[in-house]
Amino acid sequence: MGLVNDFLNGDFMPHGHCLLWRTDLLILHVGGDILTFVAYMLIPIALIRLVRARDDLHFGWIFLMFAGFIFFCGATHLLGVINVWHGYYYIHGVVKSLTGLISITTAVLLWYMLPYAINLPSKRQLQSKIIQLTEVEKQLAESNLRLEVEVSKRTAQLEKMATTDELTGLFNRREILRLLALEISRSTRQQSTLSIMMLDLDDFKAINDNYGHLTGDQTLKHAAECFSRIVRKTDFIGRIGGEEFLIVLPDTPATSAVALAERIREAKQCATEQSTIPACTVSIGVAQCVATDDQQSLIQRADECLYQAKAAGRNCVRQVAQQ
Ligand code: GH3
Ligand code: MG
Ligand code: MG
Repeated sequence: MGLVNDFLNGDFMPHGHCLLWRTDLLILHVGGDILTFVAYMLIPIALIRLVRARDDLHFGWIFLMFAGFIFFCGATHLLGVINVWHGYYYIHGVVKSLTGLISITTAVLLWYMLPYAINLPSKRQLQSKIIQLTEVEKQLAESNLRLEVEVSKRTAQLEKMATTDELTGLFNRREILRLLALEISRSTRQQSTLSIMMLDLDDFKAINDNYGHLTGDQTLKHAAECFSRIVRKTDFIGRIGGEEFLIVLPDTPATSAVALAERIREAKQCATEQSTIPACTVSIGVAQCVATDDQQSLIQRADECLYQAKAAGRNCVRQVAQQ
């Protein structure tokens, strides 16, 4: 109890007596202490806000230590002001001692963490790392772009390879049959006309036998070019077997298809007459798609007509008899 009474005893001689109660001295000391006290209360609040706002802060605890010792320094200045008029020297002494304790602890910890703080990467080092990373990122983006271009080029090549006949450049069997299936369903849906032609080069085996396989290939290419020149851009032409071709003619009735087939047959005959390629003619079977047709039945009817053309002596066009 006596200790508490001593602690709270404010009856010691106030500091004002030391200053002889001179107004100028009082203003200087009290004013300085009050300003310092206000500042020393605001600084810890700012430090605590900083630590709370930045969870990425290195050594956040040292900022809190600083906040603590600055707070106690502020308290001693406040007591300095009070003790101008009173004499609470015990309280003042205890607060000063606590300030000393927390200050010395902060100082020791500050020295302890100094090497770590010095080793933290500087802003310049971080900036140069960012520049390096940006450079790497740029290179990666460029190589990605090159890869993408290469991949789309290769994909286009693969797509072309998958749908094209290598020798003639026409659609291959799979693609022309796929297109035929599409056109059959389109003509059924839209009730439009659709015709097809089956073409087969006449006595082609003899060309191979007499002139060799390479000349046979040249003859196939020549025939493909001849057919392609005559059909419309909207028609589809493909090689479905060795020397057999299929032409799909959307929006074309059998009469027009037969007329076109005649033009093709004549053109083929003339073309070989005018070139160094061995003479070669073509037989053609024409069929128009009917409502009950699927891909197989339509091809079969055109094929039958082709065989009729062969049987009729070749180099001619035959169509399905009108019902
Ligand atoms: P037809 O008038 O009855 O059609 O007689 P053809 O000789 O044309 O028919 P055939 O089916 O007897 O012979 C076709 C030949 O086509 C046989 C085959 O060696 C040849 N052939 C198939 N594919 C190719 C190819 O890609 N290149 C070459 N040069 N010849 C091929
Ligand atoms: Mg054949
Ligand atoms: Mg043939």
